[in-house]
Amino acid sequence: MCGIVGYIGYREALPVLLSSLERVTYRGYDSFGVALLNGQGIQVFKEIGTVEERRHQVQNLQGTLGIGHTRWATVGRVSAVNAHPHQGCSVDLAIVHNGNIDNFLPLRQRLQSQGHEFRSETDSEVICHLIESHGEVEIVEATRRAIQELEGPFAMAVLHRASKRLILARRESPLVIGLGEEETFVASDAPAILPYTNRVIFLEDDDLALVWAGGMQVGRMEPKLPAKCTRLPGMQDR
Ligand code: GLU
Repeated sequence: MCGIVGYIGYREALPVLLSSLERVTYRGYDSFGVALLNGQGIQVFKEIGTVEERRHQVQNLQGTLGIGHTRWATVGRVSAVNAHPHQGCSVDLAIVHNGNIDNFLPLRQRLQSQGHEFRSETDSEVICHLIESHGEVEIVEATRRAIQELEGPFAMAVLHRASKRLILARRESPLVIGLGEEETFVASDAPAILPYTNRVIFLEDDDLALVWAGGMQVGRMEPKLPAKCTRLPGMQDR
């Protein structure tokens, strides 16, 4: 388990992210991190320990758009490098992930053979490289294509330098969106954002959402079939 948060709006995002993280610390507390988008691109701070213990060390990152994560390691040791957010080969993308990518090893091996360089031991980092590997299409579609290859539960938030919006997706891990006035909040559970808004939307399995300061859009991902199933023409999933 771990906690995800996000913010996009008019306030400085860092204090919102840190206090939301404190309210999801019960979900995981071996390490934490944030990524903010500002004029210099995406800037990341991550460290072992909890937000409460390390708050005084957090760099004063500026920006009104960001994501955060408080981790309970499931794949890879507890370390600052393994803490989220993760980035791929480029620094134009950052993701936070809750869950397990059961097929991350073959995906990692394939991506490494294509030249992708991994920094962490986590399953989560594979998501960044998979999205990057679909660089020929725009970021929401690249994310959707990457997700099609993932096996196992996840909730994730994707921050991309060019998009200036947050992309969210979930399957079997919780994720909620809080709508404010010209600002939008994201968290693994509602209590994290209730101090800011009580207009809360619970994403469902296989939802893919795009959120911005003034609103949101939700679409459905194609549900992934179990490895041994194929969908016959005209047949619906049950
Ligand atoms: N599997 C990821 C990691 O170990 C996410 C952990 C979690 O959701 O608890 O970093």
